[in-house]
Amino acid sequence: HYLKNIETKAHLNAFVEVYGPSALKQAEAIDTKIDNGKAGKLAGMVIGIKDVLCYQGNIANASSKILEGFESQFTATAIQRLIDEDAIIIGRLNCDEFGMGSSNENSVHGKVLNPVDESRVPGGSSGGSAVAVKANLCTVSLGTDTGGSVRQPAAFTGVIGIKPTYSRVSRFGLIAYASSFDTIGVFSNNVKDNALVLETMAGPDDFDSTSSRKPVPAYSGLLHFDKPAKIAYLKETVHSEAVQPEIKQHTLNVLEKLKNEGHEVEEVNFPLLDYVLPTYYILTTAEASSNLSRFDGVKYGYRSPNAHNLESMYKLSRSEGFGEEVKRRIMLGTFVLSASYYDAYFTKAQKVRRLIKGFTEDLLTKFDYIVLPTTPSTAFKFGEHSNDPVAMYLEDLFTVQASVSGVPSISIPNGKDKEGLPIGLQIMANSFKEAELYAFANYLT
Ligand code: GLN
Repeated sequence: HYLKNIETKAHLNAFVEVYGPSALKQAEAIDTKIDNGKAGKLAGMVIGIKDVLCYQGNIANASSKILEGFESQFTATAIQRLIDEDAIIIGRLNCDEFGMGSSNENSVHGKVLNPVDESRVPGGSSGGSAVAVKANLCTVSLGTDTGGSVRQPAAFTGVIGIKPTYSRVSRFGLIAYASSFDTIGVFSNNVKDNALVLETMAGPDDFDSTSSRKPVPAYSGLLHFDKPAKIAYLKETVHSEAVQPEIKQHTLNVLEKLKNEGHEVEEVNFPLLDYVLPTYYILTTAEASSNLSRFDGVKYGYRSPNAHNLESMYKLSRSEGFGEEVKRRIMLGTFVLSASYYDAYFTKAQKVRRLIKGFTEDLLTKFDYIVLPTTPSTAFKFGEHSNDPVAMYLEDLFTVQASVSGVPSISIPNGKDKEGLPIGLQIMANSFKEAELYAFANYLT
């Protein structure tokens, strides 16, 4: 069924590779297990994976020319745990190069079309993963979220997307963008599938020393929501001038409805909003410039055929292998880490990060949830922000707070604007409160 759908909707460009024969083989083996009553809890679930996740024996490109031909030597822990529960991995999904972007226009595999309106972007960086679920090309997909790359495309396409708490899911086998922000998240059409996949992937992993040792609750069995909740909404987000009026209205409608249903809803000030985006872009570019230094033409993927000595091999391989946006970020990151500017930018941004994290966690001990729009606008047209990186970065205005703070956050569909484009509602909870997040999302959907 899905293989057929992928074929008929190939023009969306969501999948960059389909594991047809191996997926069918996996499916047959699972059929036998089902007959013997030995199937895992994800038996029959068909999953697509973002092109930044390693799956042994298969190509992983991070949508970059620099990883041309690179074959994974091992399987990411998250994927292995899904396979162990009899999920079927159906293929590899398009994304922005190394997860850098908000429109899926920065990909060596070409752009991905938004099935809701094909003249518009699906969001990014996990655009292919969002579209695959929206267009019914797989049951569930994996994306990664460093600053909004699951939540923003989920909002633009009208599906559910979660960014778990930082450290909840092992990053082993995830090609790094910004290691202290990177998370693996899940796209789905309903809350239960999402919860089931996250509870299977999450948990301690000896291959990732930053993965949390905390036990993982069985989220999918905890979806019942019955107690009155304390909900905060951030004045500066809902009432920001940057927000499209219909998004503001839809968000306020939900808050009003919650109030009428007996929940406590309070407006709070978020004076740090102006600093969240600069903090995010200073720290992530710094980490990216370091992480991406390993791609030198020697160890992985692409090597320039024009090199004539060692130095030119490094230079040409990197110049020809990386795309514009990735180069911009490597330069920004190198700049903020350089000796004369380190304290002014990098150290300062780390201090501001601590303030934002402290503020957010503090608020989330007083309130159960923070509710805000996922994005300031609905899906925009291709090319609209291509020549203006700052306008593109502003798309992440509301998603980066959870990333800077490390807390979990989910985006759920919240109606449509008058052009029929999906609107996303974002909910944050305190670290490791995924069960509470899912229950609330389930209540609202
Ligand atoms: N759009 C953001 C960025 O380009 C988020 C990307 C992500 O979460 N991977 O950094």
